[in-house]
Amino acid sequence: MNIHEYQAKELLAKYGAPIAQGFAAFTVDEAVEAAGKLPGPLYVVKSQIHAGGRGKGKFKELSPEAKGGVRLAFNLDEVRAHAADMLGNTLVTIQTGEAGKQVNRLYITDGADIAKEFYLALLVDRATGRVAFVVSTEGGMDIEEVAHSTPEKIHTFDVDPATGFMPHHGRAVGGALGLSGDQAKQAAKVAGALYAAFLATDAAQIEVNPLALTEQGNLLVLDAKVGFDGNALFRHPDLMELRDETEEDPAELEASKYDLAYIKLDGDIGCMVNGAGLAMATMDIIKLNGMFPANFLDVGGGANKEKVTAAFKIILKDPNVKGILVNIFGGIMRCDIIAEGIVAAAKEVNLSVPLVVRLEGTNVEQGKEILANSGLAIVPANDLGDAAQKIVAEVKKAA
Ligand code: GDP
Ligand code: MG
Repeated sequence: MNIHEYQAKELLAKYGAPIAQGFAAFTVDEAVEAAGKLPGPLYVVKSQIHAGGRGKGKFKELSPEAKGGVRLAFNLDEVRAHAADMLGNTLVTIQTGEAGKQVNRLYITDGADIAKEFYLALLVDRATGRVAFVVSTEGGMDIEEVAHSTPEKIHTFDVDPATGFMPHHGRAVGGALGLSGDQAKQAAKVAGALYAAFLATDAAQIEVNPLALTEQGNLLVLDAKVGFDGNALFRHPDLMELRDETEEDPAELEASKYDLAYIKLDGDIGCMVNGAGLAMATMDIIKLNGMFPANFLDVGGGANKEKVTAAFKIILKDPNVKGILVNIFGGIMRCDIIAEGIVAAAKEVNLSVPLVVRLEGTNVEQGKEILANSGLAIVPANDLGDAAQKIVAEVKKAA
């Protein structure tokens, strides 16, 4: 789960990260009022969407020459004009895709005089299984480009969980940023604060870009992107309240209500599978047969009729789906129960695309019988390879 920049900054401030003063705003008037509470004379009006690249982004409704989703303002009238430009309009950035995201919230902050922009992030390094710092002197808006063309300018070091964050980690961050004296101490303090926040919140990612060095010689978290490990969220009801469902994919949101693990993809074959490993194998074998999966969908261990029906509905809402492959292993959940669920769900949703079902496991024969006697045009498959071949053939036949 991701949160907005203003929420991330409020969170990081609690752990001691240096943050400029700022307020969230939902209307133009609130934006002006928020700016009125700041010292000025420089204000920053920032679109709050769950995507980066806002500064260089473009609003669909505005002329291409108009400024992006992060703008400086030098008085309250400019704050008002920028807020009016942003609220309700659709910001397209390198991370949103062409559809862009509607801006419904703003963050109005005290503007900093920037001398230098650094990059500082924390993530879980899957290779080492440890929390790792990613540090670069080349912060700002083009970190992807830095990673691509000058990867040597990005430094990574991980933290041994047995020791936790140690002074030498702080010194390493300061050193990688080329800082000395008081500024190196500030860098170590920021690094320690981010690490503490990362651990305490079960974060998956904390990215500060830029970590700014101001003209006054202070380090400041100017942008923050924080995401949490969804599997640990149950431990953090306070963080769950920061969720902004309008930022999430509607199908993925619907799926999460039924405890279905669903991720939309670009292909034509909808997949309904139990178990993440089996889902991955199913996607692979669809590709092997020349087509692409429209989604990843793991209905989980307790796949009952309600779940299967919800899953069908979610898959069918995707206009790209030209056929569905159900691949379910009946272990704890018996195949006859699953088959009943599939038949009931297929009837309920008025299935209009070919459906291939491969069942295996406990009571598989009864399950197959239920499918065969359903009166529905369900194509049975014997194994995974057979299922993939059949769904590809059925979709081609239908087209
Ligand atoms: P992003 O484009 O979504 O990553 O949004 P950021 O919050 O990183 O803002 C983009 C850029 O706006 C930053 O890299 C800065 O160059 C600039 N910016 C943001 N806040 C300030 C500020 O307080 N003062 C100044 N001068 N520039 C800022
Ligand atoms: Mg940024």
